[in-house]
Amino acid sequence: MVCRSVAYVPTARQSNICMREDKDHVPAMSLWGYSSGTENLSDENLEHLLFCIECQTLVNQFMDVINGLPPMNPSQAA
Ligand SMILES: [Zn+2]
Repeated sequence: MVCRSVAYVPTARQSNICMREDKDHVPAMSLWGYSSGTENLSDENLEHLLFCIECQTLVNQFMDVINGLPPMNPSQAA
């Protein structure tokens, strides 16, 4: 198993990273809610996100989408 996220982990936590690789990813809907600020992640998911580049990438993509959305009400955009 490759520990891809190891470079992002504080040294004190490195011993845990390989175990975390076995965990499921955070559900995309939860990441979406987190990205849009409508949902808080559980501590477990938040920790996973800290160590998971794939989930971080997904969040970044969601953020891009959210930032790129046209305003719901054009009168509030100006
Ligand atoms: Zn993940």
